[in-house]
Amino acid sequence: MRKFPIFLLIDVSESMAGDALVQLESGMRQITADLMQDPYALETAWLSVIAFAGRARTLVPLTELTEFVPPHLPVGGGTGLGGALVHLMDEIDRSVTPSSPEQKGDWKPLVFLMTDGVPTDNAESALRRWKEKYAHRVALVAVSIGGGGDQAILSRLTNDIIPFDDTVDGAFKKFITWITNSVKSSTRSVTAGGGITLTKIGDDVSGRGSGGMPFEALDDRYAVFVGRCTDTKAPYVVKYERHMNRIGAQDPHLAELFKTREYLLKAAVPVQQDYFELSDGSKTDHSVSSTQLIGQPDCPHCHAQFGMAVCGCGGIHCVSGDGEATCPWCGKTATYGVSDGSDGGFDIGRGRG
Ligand SMILES: [Zn+2]
Ligand SMILES: [Zn+2]
Repeated sequence: MRKFPIFLLIDVSESMAGDALVQLESGMRQITADLMQDPYALETAWLSVIAFAGRARTLVPLTELTEFVPPHLPVGGGTGLGGALVHLMDEIDRSVTPSSPEQKGDWKPLVFLMTDGVPTDNAESALRRWKEKYAHRVALVAVSIGGGGDQAILSRLTNDIIPFDDTVDGAFKKFITWITNSVKSSTRSVTAGGGITLTKIGDDVSGRGSGGMPFEALDDRYAVFVGRCTDTKAPYVVKYERHMNRIGAQDPHLAELFKTREYLLKAAVPVQQDYFELSDGSKTDHSVSSTQLIGQPDCPHCHAQFGMAVCGCGGIHCVSGDGEATCPWCGKTATYGVSDGSDGGFDIGRGRG
């Protein structure tokens, strides 16, 4: 039986933590359920899920549709696109049977690459390998979430770059439907000897309806921080969203001012210990002052009131109020005073996303 291999290569970096990953998780369940109703897909479609942040990991190796169980998506630090491509190419080599004079191999694989960030690794050699050995026999669709992702690099991978505006109402639902329909139509087309056929994604969702994506420099859309619970030592990601052009959009000067200054608390999400396995471990070079951050989250693990206490070692952790606390990163005990921000703030090492 010739397989039609479908790979979901999903960016699970910190900026995707929270809503985006939750929606993608339930989206995968929806896609699987829908494809099971389709006789063509049921017969030929095989699915694989690869997650990447600073490092890449296969969550589900290429699996027959009926056996496929949608995985939980982890979170990691960094956007190692080069490493992710290498991982994908190795996975294709391992699980896709190439055609040869003796045998008909699998159908042309289809890859959905979903990313919202600028690569934090060097993708050059991976891009060369892709171009030489894979570009002609693998169809890759790059989905740039929120208009993010490095367009220059993505355009060297594929002509199919789909900007996806995740801020539109019901955006993820439409996006998931689009993937399902594209897989269905591609299954029919590919098994009839044709190529991949993508269905139309709505103009509103692709950011084309409102005259372009709302975020022009997505790299700075979020400020993300990694904390550890003082009580349990478990990690969490705190995500602030930049105060974009929504205020003073009519006045370019004012808009610029807001754009560069303030970040509003968006979410604090618990992450698993595997956060560190998926991270590249390199230190960030961005930093943001606490005076630019509006709102402070509870600890998502122990619910202590302040989730953004910063130790002298630079580690972020939770405290329940004024007094002594032991930093879960370095083990030092210090006295913490809860600041109202009027003291000029402090610099916080910023995660990358
Ligand atoms: Zn805590
Ligand atoms: Zn410390």
